[in-house]
Amino acid sequence: MSRSLPVVQFPPEAPRPVSAGSQATVFASPGDLPSDGRTVDDFKPYLVALNLTKRCNLKCAHCYLDATTRAGGGSDELSTEECYRVIDQIAAVNRGCLLVITGGEPLVRPDILDIARHAVGAGFMVVFGTNGMLIHDHVARQLVEIGVMGVGISIDSLNPDTHNAFRGVPGAWEAAVAGIEACKRNGLQFQIHFSAQPMNYKELPEVIEWAHQLGARVLNVFFMVCTGRGEELTDITPGQYEEVLTFLVGAQSQYPDMLVRARCAPHFKRLAYEKDPASPLTKAQGYMGGGCLAGTNYARVTPNGDVTPCPYMPLSAGNIRDTSFVDLWEKSDIFDSFRYPKLKGKCGDCEYSDICGGCRARPYVDHGDWMDEDQWCLYTPKGGDKVKVAFNVPMHTDTVWDEAAKTRLNRIPYFLRAMVKTGVERHAREHAIPLITVQLMDELRRKRFGNDTPVFKVP
Ligand code: SF4
Ligand code: SF4
Repeated sequence: MSRSLPVVQFPPEAPRPVSAGSQATVFASPGDLPSDGRTVDDFKPYLVALNLTKRCNLKCAHCYLDATTRAGGGSDELSTEECYRVIDQIAAVNRGCLLVITGGEPLVRPDILDIARHAVGAGFMVVFGTNGMLIHDHVARQLVEIGVMGVGISIDSLNPDTHNAFRGVPGAWEAAVAGIEACKRNGLQFQIHFSAQPMNYKELPEVIEWAHQLGARVLNVFFMVCTGRGEELTDITPGQYEEVLTFLVGAQSQYPDMLVRARCAPHFKRLAYEKDPASPLTKAQGYMGGGCLAGTNYARVTPNGDVTPCPYMPLSAGNIRDTSFVDLWEKSDIFDSFRYPKLKGKCGDCEYSDICGGCRARPYVDHGDWMDEDQWCLYTPKGGDKVKVAFNVPMHTDTVWDEAAKTRLNRIPYFLRAMVKTGVERHAREHAIPLITVQLMDELRRKRFGNDTPVFKVP
């Protein structure tokens, strides 16, 4: 993938971590519980990005991994056996999580399909973050046969010249679109990733419409963190950021059968709440997706085995060559600092800090303090009461769930559970359905997503 094609966006890999351990100890207070009612049991990884190679067939200007050429990649990349081992270690913490296999461009790594097969065999949902250029019918068929659930392909403009210039290689746009067509022909689910930048953000309405016509189930709009090769780029301004997010808050309602989401823009939640405190998109209504899950439910493994809270944050909790993923996930002070955050500056003062909290990577790459305020947010806190997260709040309803439906509901990651529960109960109420069953849940899922499992909706 040329890089930032993160399926759910993974961050970059930059310089090796500072001595973050001591800093984390200051931030973390593992004795306190988060104010939204979560417990340590809720701090499972639900999303892990495996950046398995720095090799890439593109030269994107914004590459967070500073990925190298197809021939390069470095001798310190995890071996096939080491990849198997880390996948097995992640399975020991939560085999129900979504694994995003990416790079660089993962499909240039010769053993990548073996690694994907191992991950599917271990029980994971597996998706690829790719630039799509190497997906032909044969590759798409192999991915389907292995059980890969889908791919995320980046398109930055409907103008091929603009996309190609940004990706650094002529023909990149045409090859990516050919890859999408190969996915469609072979029944491989795909989603479109759009990186909002100064040169393309005004194209967003047309890109959303195009993705919808193409049959994408998900359109993710990624907001860059200027790190890796993107360090020298100009990010969109806070004002442009606000403009795009405000547009996105309204865009979802126009496309009921396609998820349109902002990624790595936590103050999307604040804007949605300001527009409508009852918006189903906010954590105040129980929808935890679309916010920042770094370190609480999200981790990234770099090509050489460092484990970080998210792809845009080169803040390593340790390396899986020295310490197992299980220990890093469960015992690291760095991860604890995200679970029991002590936010500073205006994010600390903000009445929206529980439902937003800002991006932690931006202050980190700017000056090393990941608990500092997110300067890409224009909001000035007004000093009112904190807006509360509706986490695990019992809902007042007469609707009855049968045991199998309850079990299914409880298997849904906590950050999506309240949203699913509310939606199913609303439907049952409106149609006078007295008992919620697994069959009803399946029917509603099909109505929204067709026969495909909507794996990409995760955070
Ligand atoms: S800290 Fe959170 S919002 Fe920021 S880049 Fe990482 S995952 Fe995204
Ligand atoms: S000030 Fe911080 S917590 Fe408040 S809305 Fe902005 S980013 Fe979110």
